[in-house]
Amino acid sequence: MVEKLYVTYNDVHRLCQESAPRMLESFKPQLMIAIGGGGYVPARILRSFLKQQGQPNIPIQAIGLSLYEELPIAHEANATTGAVDQIGTKVTRTQWLDFTSLGGMENLVGKRILIVDEVDDTRTTLEYAVKELEKDVAAVSEKLGKGGEKTEFSIFVLHNKDKPKKGTLPADMEQNKYLAAQTVGDVWICYPWEATDIEEHDRLSAEQKQKKTSSS
Ligand code: 5GP
Repeated sequence: MVEKLYVTYNDVHRLCQESAPRMLESFKPQLMIAIGGGGYVPARILRSFLKQQGQPNIPIQAIGLSLYEELPIAHEANATTGAVDQIGTKVTRTQWLDFTSLGGMENLVGKRILIVDEVDDTRTTLEYAVKELEKDVAAVSEKLGKGGEKTEFSIFVLHNKDKPKKGTLPADMEQNKYLAAQTVGDVWICYPWEATDIEEHDRLSAEQKQKKTSSS
């Protein structure tokens, strides 16, 4: 049976709050791209902590990526009942940046962009996102005659699972432009936005924290 880790909304909030100063010291993002659905809530919370006095809010764009497998059929995750997602091996785009509006895309060129997701598991999704975004931004930048402007990508995840990764990231990104708020073992993380019964989810989380405190 896979070990589960119950994470509450307050845990997510605190992880974002703790990470924001480190991010402001290093990447200083000018724009965020949230990978849906898990990256949406962390990106929005992070924005509150990245806000600088006298500066506008950092814009958030969204992309949707999903890992799928042809067989067996993927199961829906359910944090409360305990069903665990069947993780796939291929990434599909369910939503992407709007390339029909060059004006919109122009905003990305030459910027420091933070890609936000909830968890780095096998790293397949992050590898796909980085590669595809770099490729697409380079194409738009060329089209706009801004080939000389450097667009920089960095990554924020709430959790990184300490395990062998299938996907790879550029070496420079892995060393200097990758921030995981928390590193965990190869457990199944139950996020609050997946819970069908949030009271029960929070209760299980509190129980887990209590057990951890009494065993340490
Ligand atoms: P990857 O294997 O590409 O790093 O992760 C793919 C996706 O699988 C993640 O974005 C996330 O949606 C889902 N995933 C992987 N591990 C977990 C986990 O422990 N809990 C939840 N809720 N989703 C996970």
